[in-house]
Amino acid sequence: MAAAGLRAEVVAIGDELVTGQRLDTNSQWISRELALLGVPTGFHTTIGDGLDDGVAALRAACARAGVVVVTGGLGPTADDLTRDVLAAVAGVPLEICPRALADVEARFASRGVAMPASNRRQAEFPAGSRPIPNPEGTAPGIDLDRGPSGAGGARVFALPGVPAEMRRMWHDTVGPAILAMLPGAGTITFRRVKCFGVGESALEAMLPDLVRRGRDPLVGITVHEATITLRIAARGAGEEACAAAIAPVEATIRRCLGGLVFGVEDDEIEDAALGSLAAAGATVASVEVATEGRVAALLAEGSARRPGSGTFLGGVVLTDGGAGDEEVAAMARRRRDEAGATHGLAVGRAIAAAGERPTVSMALDGPEGTCVVRHRLVGASDVRIVRVAKAALDLVRRVLDGLPPQP
Ligand code: AMP
Ligand code: MG
Repeated sequence: MAAAGLRAEVVAIGDELVTGQRLDTNSQWISRELALLGVPTGFHTTIGDGLDDGVAALRAACARAGVVVVTGGLGPTADDLTRDVLAAVAGVPLEICPRALADVEARFASRGVAMPASNRRQAEFPAGSRPIPNPEGTAPGIDLDRGPSGAGGARVFALPGVPAEMRRMWHDTVGPAILAMLPGAGTITFRRVKCFGVGESALEAMLPDLVRRGRDPLVGITVHEATITLRIAARGAGEEACAAAIAPVEATIRRCLGGLVFGVEDDEIEDAALGSLAAAGATVASVEVATEGRVAALLAEGSARRPGSGTFLGGVVLTDGGAGDEEVAAMARRRRDEAGATHGLAVGRAIAAAGERPTVSMALDGPEGTCVVRHRLVGASDVRIVRVAKAALDLVRRVLDGLPPQP
């Protein structure tokens, strides 16, 4: 995937970045993604929230590069000036985009909250630009085709600073749009393979040579709350050629990863667990201590996506309770009996022996017997709980699918 001549720049905007309160991780992430597409990054520019600095930085970037990716400053508050910067650089006014306004209003309405007047700003776009959908937040991004510049004009993509929103929008919209800008683009088709059970680098090590820049089809890895997505992107003359290019890559991934693969596309681990239960005509009820209700929440969310399935019979959330393999196995059995389910799933309290990392015992009790695993608490604290909850659902999937309980 050669990107003859297309060069990129990344501009990170935010007072918190230039005052040293926060590290600009977005630029690093974006440049790595650009490199995967075969597009080199010439400059990283990090600036504060001032309008004049923004205009100067954007003008310079647009004069040098064909693609400029901007993050930050798209919020509703007075210091969020990225939309004004882009309008000034393009020499166009800001206009309300009715569809974006309806989206922002709908997001507030779905939460039952009145939209603050300031959020109207998030529906303002430089004339001639397009909103970039933001499935994870309220602020859409901005796709400004042909910003003014020295040699021929640049295309500017402005994304929110929040890393999770930025990454999602990159994968959904910006990455594919940049791929389509490359010479000989033809058709581009994506296939996502979803995995759970190991860390990102361990998984990458199991896929020798697949995740390499410039490869075609291209395989990219992202992680969200311990779920790993391998995204295969193929370019070809048409859908069929792309599908034919993707198939052997997906087969290789599945062969290398085995039971770590739980689904494709939008599947989540709870969908896989509920799907395996439903296929067996089984039902599940949960009880959890260490996971703050996340097991029940995930099962409820997954159930909402399969209306009428009746597979999840309900979850109990305890603030204190059993710990250790035997107690947790008993919890699973009790929960199964009291709910009249075929399976009881229990996640106990976290415990730690002196000098060791804490562990959480989890158990699935069903006609197959009782399966107990001990999960070691590792990783950043913000994903620890959801990782444990997902590990419990992965246990359900593995037992029902006849896989060994732990990878
Ligand atoms: P903003 O879109 O400017 O309102 O930023 C929203 C959040 O994203 C803030 O918590 C910022 O600290 C964070 N953020 C903004 N830019 C970056 C960046 N370049 N790298 C990492 N985090 C960022
Ligand atoms: Mg900001």
